[in-house]
Amino acid sequence: MSRPPVEVADVIRTAGESFFERSQNWFTWLHFKVVNAILLCRTAGLGGHQDACSGCGYQVISFNSCRNRHCPRCQANARDRWLEAREKELLPTRYVHIRRLECRNKSILAPEILALKLGLTKAETTFASLLAAGLSVVQICGRLRIHESTARTHLRHLYQKTGARRQAELVSRSLVP
Ligand SMILES: [Zn+2]
Repeated sequence: MSRPPVEVADVIRTAGESFFERSQNWFTWLHFKVVNAILLCRTAGLGGHQDACSGCGYQVISFNSCRNRHCPRCQANARDRWLEAREKELLPTRYVHIRRLECRNKSILAPEILALKLGLTKAETTFASLLAAGLSVVQICGRLRIHESTARTHLRHLYQKTGARRQAELVSRSLVP
């Protein structure tokens, strides 16, 4: 893989000193160790080595890597290998990412899924998500700063789109997994 135009080491070099000064109260020697490794990785600071092709004799001189597990340069190959291996596992089909959120000790559907599943508008989705999370209509009005009549309209639309007749039924049958 080609080298990215800006690397973490470049960012540290640019913002380094002022960042260290501002971060003194939480920066530990472990952080320094990692930052130091990232800064020195593949520079003259860590020395170098010479690789030679046994066939044609072509030689290349390279700087040594820091091999720190936090170093993005050193982990790039491992990451690429991991991605390649995951790509081989992909089935020849379209993939969808489904997110589940844990809220108040119960699992609820991610807003994107709710909207897709029930054909909700953005406002209805926000309303339905809060309802699924266990908030009352009054609490939702306060949270979203909406009038109770607006909430009643959202609720009516939710009943229409889900076929539910009561709030409890709406939540248990349509808004939670
Ligand atoms: Zn490194």
